[in-house]
Amino acid sequence: MRIASGDELHSARDIWERALGELQIQVNKANFSTWLSGSQGISYQDNIFVVGAPNIFVAEWLSKRLHSLIRKTLANILGKDIELEIVVCSKDQNQVASSTSSKQTDGGTSSKAKQKVFNPNYTFDNFVVSDCNRLAYAAAREVVENPGRIYNPLLIYSSTGQGKTHLLQAIGQATKNKGAKVIYTTAERFTSEFILAAREKEIEAFRGKFRDIDTLLFDDIQFMYDKKQSLQCFYQLFNELHGNNRQIIITADCHPKDMPALSNKLRSRLQCGLIVPIEPADFQTRLAILRVKADALGVPIPEEALQVIAEKMHDNVRQLEGALAYFTAQSRLSGTNITTQTVNKFLTEGNNRNEDVIIKTVADYFDLSMEEIIGKKRDRKVVLARQIAMYLMREENNDSFTKISKILGNKSHATALHGYEKIAGEINVNSNIHQQIAQIKEKINMCKTQM
Ligand code: ADP
Ligand code: MG
Repeated sequence: MRIASGDELHSARDIWERALGELQIQVNKANFSTWLSGSQGISYQDNIFVVGAPNIFVAEWLSKRLHSLIRKTLANILGKDIELEIVVCSKDQNQVASSTSSKQTDGGTSSKAKQKVFNPNYTFDNFVVSDCNRLAYAAAREVVENPGRIYNPLLIYSSTGQGKTHLLQAIGQATKNKGAKVIYTTAERFTSEFILAAREKEIEAFRGKFRDIDTLLFDDIQFMYDKKQSLQCFYQLFNELHGNNRQIIITADCHPKDMPALSNKLRSRLQCGLIVPIEPADFQTRLAILRVKADALGVPIPEEALQVIAEKMHDNVRQLEGALAYFTAQSRLSGTNITTQTVNKFLTEGNNRNEDVIIKTVADYFDLSMEEIIGKKRDRKVVLARQIAMYLMREENNDSFTKISKILGNKSHATALHGYEKIAGEINVNSNIHQQIAQIKEKINMCKTQM
């Protein structure tokens, strides 16, 4: 169904007003006023409902935390399932830029989609260069200057929240500014569009939209590992573009040699260009990034407090931003300034919750309760979930096996060690486990971000 454009804005607004009414009942007051009250219904067409958030933090928070609730609420009101897109759209500004999870539905052919593809905060200028990422940064600059020449494909890999998407989008914006045709997509989006196209028998049209582009930016290929047909389609697309000297940039969570499910032919294609890692940001880098982000937010925050955040939140950069957004929201709500004491207190208390977050996230992922994971049940699903929790506590938190065994219901040290080793061994050979863990890690990081 397509609503005529005159009515579109009006009805999207009305629908969103109703949705807000219902959401107000479903989330707590502080969350509602911080995250939802400044949002707007932008458009509803082709079954895609677009919600505008006043800034990138809110857009990302909504995308990560309330996406499914909002989607369900809208589906209830509209009487059918819809796609939800959350974009940045300040009230006094017409330009719409998407948050990282937005969907581009037509390959960038409509002017609306063209406007929405990139996050305006993810530029080269806003990227803090350090020893951790210098190589990736230089390569990214190079593919803008000399696309399709030496580094093709360029593959950037790192653990989550280290700036891959940021760099990818910076490449996209700089390339587009030079007049080239660019598509940015994620493996998840590619897969869902491919499946939709297959269902509608429109594979040719789907492939067609990539045909005359100059640069393809493909984010998070690890989310496609178990999607055989999408991978095959991607492989063909890759060959076509590469054969025509079009630039391809891909991001992943690991080196292609550690991507278990890829066919050898795709793996070797991925390895024929340049592969660069981004190392986890060190303290100085984290601090520099925090300064840039705090500046962009325009929040007064003491240097010492920034140092505390940079020191305590070392897992990934996204966490830093989440912490900043959290402290900003808190200070706005309470009308007080952010101080080193409040930051310190919060982070010290928050740090003890990492294990809880891991267990809760794993439990949710497998549709189990935390008690089941900690308990004595030994059926396959519970054991797998428990072992994944053990693995993640070790990997993400560097917990000792003694601590892990204690937290997980006083199991023996050997059980924790075995659980960890079992998953560590399987992650590189079992694509299913690899993907499950990638997804759980992503969720854990979201949770930490919102601590
Ligand atoms: P990834 O794609 O690797 O998971 P992102 O690119 O989404 O990570 O980065 C997470 C957040 O951290 C983003 O908001 C990004 O702007 C920020 N970030 C990461 N690295 C840097 C950096 N070197 N300079 C500035 N911001 C960074
Ligand atoms: Mg990313």
